[in-house]
Amino acid sequence: MRGVLDIGVIGAGTAGSAAATLLARAGHRVTVYERVAEPGAVGAGILLQPTGQAVLRALGVLDDVVARAEPLDGLRCETLERRTVFRLRYGALDGGHRGFGLHRGALFERLFAAAAASGATLRTGEAIEDLVATPSGDGLFFVHPDGSRVGPHELCIVADGARSHLRDDTSFRKRIREYPWGAMWAVLDDPEARFTGVLHQVVDGTRRMVGALPSGLGPGSTAGPRKVSVFYSVRHDRAEAWRARGLDACKRELRSFLPALDGPLQAVTDPAQFVFTRYMDVSMPRWHAGRVVYLGDAAHAMSPQLGQGANLALLDAWTLATVLAEGGDAAAALARYTRMRRSNLRFYTYATRWLTPWFQSDLAALGVLRDHGFAAFMRVPGVEALMVKVMTGFAQGVGVGPSLQLPGG
Ligand SMILES: Cc1cc2nc3c(=O)[nH]c(=O)nc-3n(C[C@H](O)[C@H](O)[C@H](O)COP(=O)(O)OP(=O)(O)OC[C@H]3O[C@@H](n4cnc5c(N)ncnc54)[C@H](O)[C@@H]3O)c2cc1C
Repeated sequence: MRGVLDIGVIGAGTAGSAAATLLARAGHRVTVYERVAEPGAVGAGILLQPTGQAVLRALGVLDDVVARAEPLDGLRCETLERRTVFRLRYGALDGGHRGFGLHRGALFERLFAAAAASGATLRTGEAIEDLVATPSGDGLFFVHPDGSRVGPHELCIVADGARSHLRDDTSFRKRIREYPWGAMWAVLDDPEARFTGVLHQVVDGTRRMVGALPSGLGPGSTAGPRKVSVFYSVRHDRAEAWRARGLDACKRELRSFLPALDGPLQAVTDPAQFVFTRYMDVSMPRWHAGRVVYLGDAAHAMSPQLGQGANLALLDAWTLATVLAEGGDAAAALARYTRMRRSNLRFYTYATRWLTPWFQSDLAALGVLRDHGFAAFMRVPGVEALMVKVMTGFAQGVGVGPSLQLPGG
């Protein structure tokens, strides 16, 4: 398999759209299969870190994306009693970095448009449920839910998100779990711009947390009120009970954590405007098998504690395009892909898995330790810069090793 490849991509989310764009621009024949018939700007706020920004710059869409986003200087976490748990400022790390809060839909719109303009063929309303090798073994048919086949394609990119079915077919062992916890989300107008510049989280033990992520203008708009994404951490089996208490009780509780939510919450008329999302924890020993490569949440879904989901997906896409551009045998290129992504993905998988119970669990003792220990830890010289390095997406394991490869780096 050399030169131009026939590539099938499953899923037109962050990873699939970015990979399709880069690979079609590199001259490959790319077909994207997306389950949703009319993919739209759905979701709530996400964090765009310097790593994700670097990939968007390489794609030529960074300026458009950040024009709809809210610049962030850092992250602030405090207790309900207003004691600081930690503050992380991008400025603590050299390099002039910053983050952006944005609506997932604003990123999706721009990436989907880039994929459409790249020469890739976009086939929407086509779910793929299985892969079948060609008799000669040099390609894969993609199978629809009704059993009909398309393809074959020489290379398959599985980018169908956290609840991927195609990932389940791989023979090697992997960990696929749902966290007991998730969050209620709503994207609200913030006409008085009460939430700017930081992701603000307020914690009460490990069972309750409210956060506000400034999310820019939102999808489709170039003007109008800024948005704020509000989230309430809740265990999945308590989610319905939270909403069932009624609108006033829900609003009162949210305001007790973040009084400035008073304005944005006025537009909420029904607790059902808060959508529950349960988090997944997925890890795989490698992200390729034969002619198949797994990108984004399909390969490494994690809880959003470190704000990396979209950024890791973008880096996956760029890394895949980079190894394929080096030429040679595609199977060898996919093995190189796994090697290049290993340290960065392992680090964020384990760090997120370790960190999550400190913020979302029934382990009350962790909350006490966190509230007292994190603040002291953060005062140790160099610790904030280290933590900010983790936040930016640059971390690569704990040892001394090569630094993360980024576009333009
Ligand atoms: C509807 C939606 C809302 C989200 N909201 C948020 C949010 O508010 N905040 C946040 O941090 N993250 C959110 N995410 C997750 C976030 O987009 C991802 O963590 C990140 O961008 C990584 O992207 P990904 O491409 O791996 O997966 P995703 O962005 O999830 O994309 C996967 C794509 O695959 C498609 N797909 C799934 N199954 C099939 C199939 N069988 N055949 C073909 N196509 C298929 C899906 O429709 C989707 O377009 C959301 C994802 C989705 C799909």
